[in-house]
Amino acid sequence: MLAIYTYLHAPCVLKQKTLEGRLNNLSASALYKNNFKNSTIMKSLLLTTSIFTLMMYEMPKLPYANNALEPVISQQTIDFHYGKHLQTYVNNLNGLVPGTEFGNKDLVTIVATAPDGAVFNNAGQVLNHTLYFLQFAPKPAKSEPTGKLAEAINRDFGSFENFKKEFSAAAVGLFGSGWAWLSADKNGKLVITKEANGSNPVRAGLTPLLGFDVWEHSYYLDYQNRRADHIAALWSIIDWDVVGSRLK
Ligand code: MN
Repeated sequence: MLAIYTYLHAPCVLKQKTLEGRLNNLSASALYKNNFKNSTIMKSLLLTTSIFTLMMYEMPKLPYANNALEPVISQQTIDFHYGKHLQTYVNNLNGLVPGTEFGNKDLVTIVATAPDGAVFNNAGQVLNHTLYFLQFAPKPAKSEPTGKLAEAINRDFGSFENFKKEFSAAAVGLFGSGWAWLSADKNGKLVITKEANGSNPVRAGLTPLLGFDVWEHSYYLDYQNRRADHIAALWSIIDWDVVGSRLK
């Protein structure tokens, strides 16, 4: 095993050392000339750093404290779901895409076009959870949608109450791990879809507006097997201004 490992990794180590050696030599040379800051090497290093930074996918910043959604979502669940699960998806994605055809693409493009596999799974979950965590407010100003979103819900589902009923049924009835989404199609018509695992409606050309995560990690610490109770409670912390702003 050791021999195989050495054989497989030796060229990489050697290449890395050679590169470091060249950089050290070049940097030393530039320092010697006393124009380190203005050197071509530094400029190209800074440029490389800038490009690399642009390609990194980041955690959404929560607009509320980790305990602010209690008792609907506990601090412990936020600590694990946001702090551990989502962080892992972000880290995985940042480890997977550099050097691939997805290295310079935005999240939505990756989720819409990547083939099934690790890049798609992790990108999907970063997009899903970003939309999910940003759609909540501890004390929402409105208990239901207003304006254009309210009109579209009434038009396509009959009433807000009926929409909630249909959406809840989709979330509660989804088999296994996945997501229930409210989305708009290209004509503005609203649709409810069930997405398996880490998929997202952008894969079908839809614009996601509201998503309920029904992976057990999203509710098991607080509700154990009572998924329906968790879904019923979520409606009280939806920020309808945020959801409405996603409908273009
Ligand atoms: Mn989740």
